[in-house]
Amino acid sequence: MKSIVVRPLQNFSVIEKETPKAGGNRVLIRSKYTAICGSDKGSWMHREDFAIGHEYAGYIEDPGEFPIAKGTPVCAPEFDPCGECEYCMAGEEQRCRQMMENNPGVSVDGSLGEFYTVRGEYVIPIPEDMPMQLGAIVEPVAVSLHGVRLGKVKPGDTVLIWGNGPIGIYAAATAKLSGAKAVYMVGRGKGRVELCKKYEFVDDCFSTLDEDFEEQIKAVMPAGGFSAGLDCLGLSNYNQLASFLKAGATMVLVGMHSRETTFSPFSMFFKELSIQAALYFNWKDYQDAFKMIYENQELFLGTITSIIPAEPEEIQKMFVKLFESGSNDECKALIEFKD
Ligand SMILES: [Zn+2]
Ligand SMILES: [Zn+2]
Repeated sequence: MKSIVVRPLQNFSVIEKETPKAGGNRVLIRSKYTAICGSDKGSWMHREDFAIGHEYAGYIEDPGEFPIAKGTPVCAPEFDPCGECEYCMAGEEQRCRQMMENNPGVSVDGSLGEFYTVRGEYVIPIPEDMPMQLGAIVEPVAVSLHGVRLGKVKPGDTVLIWGNGPIGIYAAATAKLSGAKAVYMVGRGKGRVELCKKYEFVDDCFSTLDEDFEEQIKAVMPAGGFSAGLDCLGLSNYNQLASFLKAGATMVLVGMHSRETTFSPFSMFFKELSIQAALYFNWKDYQDAFKMIYENQELFLGTITSIIPAEPEEIQKMFVKLFESGSNDECKALIEFKD
């Protein structure tokens, strides 16, 4: 099969690869849509001959042992849990030690190959009244929803989201759809801040470049502070975020943060704040994210800001725009294979 891979590093080429096979607990998918994720930057820089793509929607090519027709448009999580350990039994698949074993676009070639396999029992057919490209964003929406849930966001809450990339934007959307009364965001570059202000689920977005940035946040902060604070950026210090939260609130680390961070225990003590890491999502989060998207299609279509053809030059241009230009006005960019 044809596979679009990183070759040379920080560039893309088409090469021939062996087509993977359905069988056992896996079904074979033919690529249609792939969404680009911030985590793909690392693969682009360091993994030669790797096919990225872990946020996808495609067609069933070979259902193997599963009762689903060839040609059905589907989406599926990339995860590969064992189904038997204490975490899987508790519905916390993200903690399973086998979770990462066979993950398209993460641990094995992903959806920039013409074909890839996923776990058959986690495939969700995309109904006719839902645009297929929405299937490709279920994964990042599930990541954000998982973070919102760990932040214990409940109806009536006012939430502060730090970081306005796609995961921050989907955290805002899923917090609002989970009943939050108001959602405020913090970004940096003016272009992205303006993009976020336009979303109906964002009550306002502030820029840390503004001198009176703290005052702007305090002006909208409920008495006592925000109910939850989601770090969707990877802050190097938690004191400022902690200062905006109310007693008992949780700060959630959403997405993969590898930067060293510091906090003053005093900023935590007097309000009994918690810090909670959020790893990926579980199967329930993925199903619920799918449902949220299905029921709010216009809202989520508004977060897909570009759809580009699956051509190495086009993908390269988009990667440079997203990861090297320093600032851009994209939320989710999708790569589309021809039918
Ligand atoms: Zn991702
Ligand atoms: Zn397990």
